[in-house]
Amino acid sequence: MKKNFWLLGLASLVFIILSASRYKGTTQEADLFAEEYVPNEVLVRFKEDTGKHIVQFGVDSVQGKILTYLGNEIALVDWNPDVSSVRSFLSDPYLLHIRVPEYIGTEQAVSLLLMNPNVEYAEKNMVLHLFVNPNDPHFSKLWGMNNTGQTGGTVDADIDAPEAWNIFTGSPNVVVAVIDTGVNYNHEDLKANIWTNSGECGNGKETDGVDNDGNGYRDDWRGWNFAYNNNNPMDDNSHGTHVAGTIGAAGNNGKGVAGISWTVKLMAIKIFDEGAYGSVSNAIHAVDYATENGACISSNSYGWAYNDPDLVANKTAYYNAINRAKNKGKLFIAAAGNYQGNTQWYDNDKKAVYPSCYDLDNIVSVLSTDHNDILSSFSHYGKTTVDIGAPGGTNDGSNKDIYSTVLGNNYAFYAGTSMASLMW
Ligand code: CA
Ligand code: CA
Repeated sequence: MKKNFWLLGLASLVFIILSASRYKGTTQEADLFAEEYVPNEVLVRFKEDTGKHIVQFGVDSVQGKILTYLGNEIALVDWNPDVSSVRSFLSDPYLLHIRVPEYIGTEQAVSLLLMNPNVEYAEKNMVLHLFVNPNDPHFSKLWGMNNTGQTGGTVDADIDAPEAWNIFTGSPNVVVAVIDTGVNYNHEDLKANIWTNSGECGNGKETDGVDNDGNGYRDDWRGWNFAYNNNNPMDDNSHGTHVAGTIGAAGNNGKGVAGISWTVKLMAIKIFDEGAYGSVSNAIHAVDYATENGACISSNSYGWAYNDPDLVANKTAYYNAINRAKNKGKLFIAAAGNYQGNTQWYDNDKKAVYPSCYDLDNIVSVLSTDHNDILSSFSHYGKTTVDIGAPGGTNDGSNKDIYSTVLGNNYAFYAGTSMASLMW
């Protein structure tokens, strides 16, 4: 009896935890304009070549602790821009990710740091939102690829995928970074197209605890997990796997679905935890990882926004990361945004959503269309800030209709500008 009671308690606890994590994901989507940031954290950039001790003194002025790019807290005296292992961001030695005490807090720390003449900028570490409507199964087919009216939509309201496949079905030389909740690299319809890091493969290099290719990450043979700071970017949410399937589920293999590219290499980079919580600092690491490790395109179906557009300086930490990608010839695909609340916020020209609205010409911002080639009800748009429309589906409250890979060897229907991002 006692044992049963204990089991019942455990089951309830599991249920509460699962419910809480789901609730968290849904809330974030609805609160795109909540200006949510990671409490007691600041991203601060000191001017190039500021002396080591001046930087340390500046951080100490807000009683900050420095976090390295692998998430470790280091003693202030150990910080040195010339030692990559103690950097907060591998690609920018003078950008620091700091944690401040609660009694100082983010707002005050940012204000104080901005008064320091050696500081170029200081900003909050914004919380990111995934641009998806939650999963719900529905019976349909891949109308976005080829629309024959099978879902009651308009014939040919699609991307002409079969026509394109007559000409080209993809190449293993194209690496697409999926910056998301991870990728289910074991999925039957994805595993043939998963990127592996040749510098960390073979002769046991995968698990030898050594950074064999010297890129700053130990045993990153199949990408990296920035949400939990480890080498396993396995998906625990399904969002990233769904996006990955649209980009590159293996084609013509007699299984499941077909991606836009039947042959491609999908680089798994996880920045959201299982509750769909992720921050700008993770996204910066991810974009730099993709840029430095051979991806030519990255998929970014998440973002954040501010209620007050004047709050946003264009020259921010994340902008600079995308700019570094641009300088190396990398495309950055960004979902324009999803919202289920007040329709007045849908126009990104009036109220910017980042990163899709940054003014950088390597960014392709994508809105979502439905099976009649009409703007999806949840989709953001923008005459100047959005570049292209692509099938991202319909969400009529219970039904979603973009089909792709998820956890296990399963498939499911989602909808969102996330789904549209690379459907073109
Ligand atoms: Ca490595
Ligand atoms: Ca290794």
